[in-house]
Amino acid sequence: VRTNRPGLLDGLDPEQRAAAVAPRGPVCVLAGAGTGKTRTITHRIAHLIRSGHVSPGQVLAVTFTTRAAGEMRTRLRTLGVEGAQALTFHAAARRQLRYFWPRVIGDRPWDLLEGKLRLVGQAANKVGLGIEAEVLRDLASEIEWAKASLISPDDYPATAVRVQRDTPGTPQQVAEVYRAYEKVKNSAQVLDFDDLLLHTTAVLEEHGEVAREFRDRYRCFIVDEYQDVTPLQQRLLDAWLGGRDDLTVVGDANQTIYSFGGASPRPLLEFTRRFPEATVVRLERDYRSTPQVVELANKVIGAARNRPAGSRLRLIGQRSPGPEPRFAEFDDEPTEAAAVAARVRALLDAGVAASEIAILYRINAQSEAYEQALSEVGIPYLVRGGERFFDRREIRQAMSSLRVAAADPPPTELVTAVRAVLARVGLTDQPPSGGAAKERWDALLSLVEVAEELAATVEGADLPRYVAELEQRAAAQHPPTVEGVTLASLHAAKGLEWDAVFLVGLAEGTMPILHADGDDEAIEEERRLFYVGVTRAREHLWLSWALSRHPGGRRHRRRSRFLYGLLPEHHPAARVPRSQSGKNGPKPRCRVCGGPLLETMEIKLGRCGRCPSTLDEDLLDRLKEWRITRAKELKVPPFVVFTDATLIAI
Ligand code: ATP
Ligand code: MG
Repeated sequence: VRTNRPGLLDGLDPEQRAAAVAPRGPVCVLAGAGTGKTRTITHRIAHLIRSGHVSPGQVLAVTFTTRAAGEMRTRLRTLGVEGAQALTFHAAARRQLRYFWPRVIGDRPWDLLEGKLRLVGQAANKVGLGIEAEVLRDLASEIEWAKASLISPDDYPATAVRVQRDTPGTPQQVAEVYRAYEKVKNSAQVLDFDDLLLHTTAVLEEHGEVAREFRDRYRCFIVDEYQDVTPLQQRLLDAWLGGRDDLTVVGDANQTIYSFGGASPRPLLEFTRRFPEATVVRLERDYRSTPQVVELANKVIGAARNRPAGSRLRLIGQRSPGPEPRFAEFDDEPTEAAAVAARVRALLDAGVAASEIAILYRINAQSEAYEQALSEVGIPYLVRGGERFFDRREIRQAMSSLRVAAADPPPTELVTAVRAVLARVGLTDQPPSGGAAKERWDALLSLVEVAEELAATVEGADLPRYVAELEQRAAAQHPPTVEGVTLASLHAAKGLEWDAVFLVGLAEGTMPILHADGDDEAIEEERRLFYVGVTRAREHLWLSWALSRHPGGRRHRRRSRFLYGLLPEHHPAARVPRSQSGKNGPKPRCRVCGGPLLETMEIKLGRCGRCPSTLDEDLLDRLKEWRITRAKELKVPPFVVFTDATLIAI
């Protein structure tokens, strides 16, 4: 047994350490956002390896999103761990299946299905159902739900009725489309994402020899974000374990955000029933966020209904205080986006790194306004930062062209040669103006930067040497850095953190999403999603919404119900007492009619709400000041109002 290098566990608190050093066997960490769950498991992996209890190749750590898996790998690398796998369930299954396939199924594995909706469309056509894009999307997600929940086409109708699914068509029709879809897909010899998991599970369950070999190799399993496990993923996990119990799970039931897709926090909450001898650790200290952010997060999740036992944890902030979370209401979306871009610019100017800033939204379609606003002020951003660099389509294309070129390297040496090859796969001289094209351009440009770096550091570096360097980086998952502000959906942001987070579009209809309205469970899932968003921020947290979509449009939107109780207006104590005075003196009054002034609209429009008189600068300033002091006095977040992207009151 090798000795433990000193210092590894120094960065953990006593509870985290207890989980990190627990003997091999079942371990469960139940804790809120930012309490160090991911940190604890990465340290546990490092500790088990360093102390010789397990070798890196025997470890399989899994999580749910590509970004979160990337984050785990980064943290493991920082701890000096090489060779332990940290993947999404799908990536792990895909890799295993590629290995199993020729041995038990034959030939080379089927390709991954591209263009799922087209196939669902074919199936729907066969069944005689409508094929509008929206219906197809609903059908596709219903099929995904069924597969993730281990429900066959035969069982679908009864189950859908029992759990009251909102089905696109009758349950029988959906079942028929599901059946037809499987048939078309199989005859085309392609696999969808769920098939990766289903087939891998089936191989392990049905082929004893393969299973024995697999279990001989992988001995130590870790699952992050376990609150979002689906029955299908659980079944795969059980197939991996094969009756063993060397399993560490960590999760937060308050962050279950995939239950619409079949996920459930139940396996997390019932872990100790399954493994009564498990080491159980609860964490409450929040190391990620300022006390102000933590306080807001506690309020958000405190308002949740039907929280299961075991999920009622309160976060206790550990960091020193930071800026107050800010709230901002705008007339329309472009104004909101422009104001956010202006704030991002201010943060960048203040020295915050672009990679430490994120703009998070409910649905991907919201990104467009932000892409445009950021492009207009020349701020680089990444929309699909979750994808692994070397898995990006343009990078795969570039790599294959580079390999071809390297087989017969041109005499020009290195940077020129690389540029010439990349020009053929889309690297233009000037960057495209924005959007996905600009992102692809940036990714390709970073390959040029690697060439420049190599040319500067390695004498006589040529194309073959360069390709070897890239391949090495790809194997080590060590991508060149593409710097930029992150634009991501709340779902994709899970498990991650940034110094500054902008939660945008917090209006009814987008947050919560329209189709959740009237469905209590769906609303609670939206609330958890909001909680996930709030808890991504280390320091700066901005929450904003717009009252209409387009400039000059009818301002018919309402701010999100989740803001209730967070904004000063809704704070019971924030109602101005009858005396109209706080500690900071009497409320300013209109110079003409003498009526008390306070309303946001009065500040915003610069007019008295009672008489038609215009408020002068001096009075407006006093009014804003009064508001700020009052908010401080009541210990509520100050309310921000923007006009034309200018901050007029904090
Ligand atoms: P989430 O639920 O959002 O996934 P988490 O519980 O996994 O959160 P981590 O991401 O592991 O939390 O940790 C949050 C932040 O707090 C990280 O920046 C981490 O490095 C830091 N942190 C965790 N524990 C400690 C500690 N004991 N001392 C200092 N910093 C810590
Ligand atoms: Mg985590």
